[in-house]
Amino acid sequence: MNYDKNNIFAKILRNETPCKKVYENDYVLSFYDVNPQKKIHILVIPKGEYIDLDDFNSKASEKEIIEFNKAITHIVKMLKISNQEDGYRVISNIGKNGGQEVFHFHYHIFGGEKIRKMVF
Ligand code: 5GP
Repeated sequence: MNYDKNNIFAKILRNETPCKKVYENDYVLSFYDVNPQKKIHILVIPKGEYIDLDDFNSKASEKEIIEFNKAITHIVKMLKISNQEDGYRVISNIGKNGGQEVFHFHYHIFGGEKIRKMVF
């Protein structure tokens, strides 16, 4: 599978589709999910063109990988959900069995309320 430059997150990165931005730097963009599954439901995407987590880890530079991971912690601190009292969950869906719908690599960040055990 090749990266599809017309996927919805690519359009958001090109400002062709609007988003409710949470955070942005040279490496990542973070915005609210249009169909939130929890009180807080945020997406974090790299600015580079990667299909999924494995594509990202295989092809991205070490700087991109480090900056992406650091951005997660930066964002949850910004939202004040990073401590053990509150907490949050990050997941990434990959491929058909993972339930991936948008083929630009992303993490979901869920928080703001109790999340049931593991998967649903
Ligand atoms: P996936 O199943 O690929 O891990 O999740 C894709 C996510 O993208 C879904 O939670 C869906 O609600 C979200 N999404 C799809 N289209 C848009 C959009 O145009 N804007 C935003 N903000 N989120 C979107």
